[in-house]
Amino acid sequence: MSEHEHANNSEDAAVSDLKDESAGIGETSGHPVAGERPEQVFEYARAPESRSVVHLRSSYGLFIDGAFVEPVDAKSYKTENPATEEVLAEIAAAGVEDVDRAVQAAGRAQKMVWGPMPGAERAKYLFRIARIMQERSRELAVLESLDNGKPIRESRDVDVPLAAAHFFYYAGWADKLDYAGFGPNPAPIGVAGQVIPWNFPLMMAAWKLAPALAAGNTCVLKPASTTPLSALLLAEIIQQADLPPGVVNVITGAGSLAGAALVAHPGVDKVAFTGSTEVGKDLQRALAGTGKHLTLELGGKAANIVFEDAPLDQAIEGIVNGIFFNQGEVCCAGSRLLVQESIADIVVERLKRRLATLRVGDPLDKNTDLGAINNPAQLDKIRELAAAGEAEGAIRWSPSCTLPSKGYWFAPTVFTNVSPAHRIAQEEIFGPVLSVLTFRTPEEAVAKANNTVYGLSAGV
Ligand code: NAD
Repeated sequence: MSEHEHANNSEDAAVSDLKDESAGIGETSGHPVAGERPEQVFEYARAPESRSVVHLRSSYGLFIDGAFVEPVDAKSYKTENPATEEVLAEIAAAGVEDVDRAVQAAGRAQKMVWGPMPGAERAKYLFRIARIMQERSRELAVLESLDNGKPIRESRDVDVPLAAAHFFYYAGWADKLDYAGFGPNPAPIGVAGQVIPWNFPLMMAAWKLAPALAAGNTCVLKPASTTPLSALLLAEIIQQADLPPGVVNVITGAGSLAGAALVAHPGVDKVAFTGSTEVGKDLQRALAGTGKHLTLELGGKAANIVFEDAPLDQAIEGIVNGIFFNQGEVCCAGSRLLVQESIADIVVERLKRRLATLRVGDPLDKNTDLGAINNPAQLDKIRELAAAGEAEGAIRWSPSCTLPSKGYWFAPTVFTNVSPAHRIAQEEIFGPVLSVLTFRTPEEAVAKANNTVYGLSAGV
């Protein structure tokens, strides 16, 4: 059997569970009646992206001082594909000593090489990284979908191009910092300890690294433990771009150990954290009075407000993108829909019709709209909040779709009859779950939209 045939067969086997789900979606059937035009039948044809572009290693070390190294105590853990539960690779689990090595390397590189380097020279490295990311974009996209569970359409068209664009953009700033609003002769802060979540692993890495590097800082990046692979491939790209050793270091492992050791390290001058509000609060408490700079990007419970004069079909697309993009695992997801009472019924009806066309399943199928939930803990959290929604009296609805039997899956879900006090109207679910509330006047819409502890984003 050729390699190609083999790949096709194994892929077919892996997604045979997804077959049922196509029934009823995009198909019509039935026998033509005399005199009537026969109904067209559209067969669903999968369009799987090949995995062959990704060369997974069986194990990955820590990226410290320009090289991949084993952790001092040789500890590791497994990262898996959330769509199939297949183990993808063994990942080094950094301990306190490894974090120290990485921070020391970053400190040396900052003082000796990267800080003194003219901005125009730093820019060349960042441009080079951006270009290599573009050259290796297919590999990055497939790897991201494998490790995160997000649809290839999103990793290919959103995560990877935006991450590369970010490096391009900040490369452009590196020699123009005098005009960036920091006053004359702005100086780097030093070593940045950067901790990121699993929902946009590569993009978050780019958001953290590119601006810090452009400004002459060096970095120790800690990706989320369930999505380390794209950050490690980025480390490989950074090696390929000949970035001086120690300028970027990537340490993998648990947040409570590697993450906590990184943010507490005295050699770290600035902590940049994106993740949950709970951990953000802990960091703020831990860093208070230390003199370290701190940036936090935390959770959200955004309201999308739809008034009765809105163009409804466009509004529906906005609602769907707002909450079902990236399985709703988005800090600024439009997880609350506030719709004016006079049009609530028609909006909900059209929304349901639209959701029945969403395709849930294999993240590597280019037609997939919703992939897998990234990890079992997150799936448990979504299930728990959805159950609380039902228990508190909201009405739960999902389109008919058969979820794969392996992996971590949650069907797109809409709750109506939601009151502002319900947990599903207050707590961040971070999953494909929409809570619909109604309002009568603009004042009531604003009051309800603001009835949350979060203030990250909103839409009208
Ligand atoms: P999380 O807070 O559990 O983890 C985020 C990162 O912090 C991970 O790398 C984790 O290993 C690390 N971490 C955990 N405990 C730590 C500790 N004590 N010290 C240092 N590091 C620690 O969050 P998550 O589950 O990975 O991500 C989901 C959350 O992130 C959601 O609440 C979401 O809203 C938020 N988020 C916010 C934004 C934003 O830009 N505002 C973007 C994406 C995600």
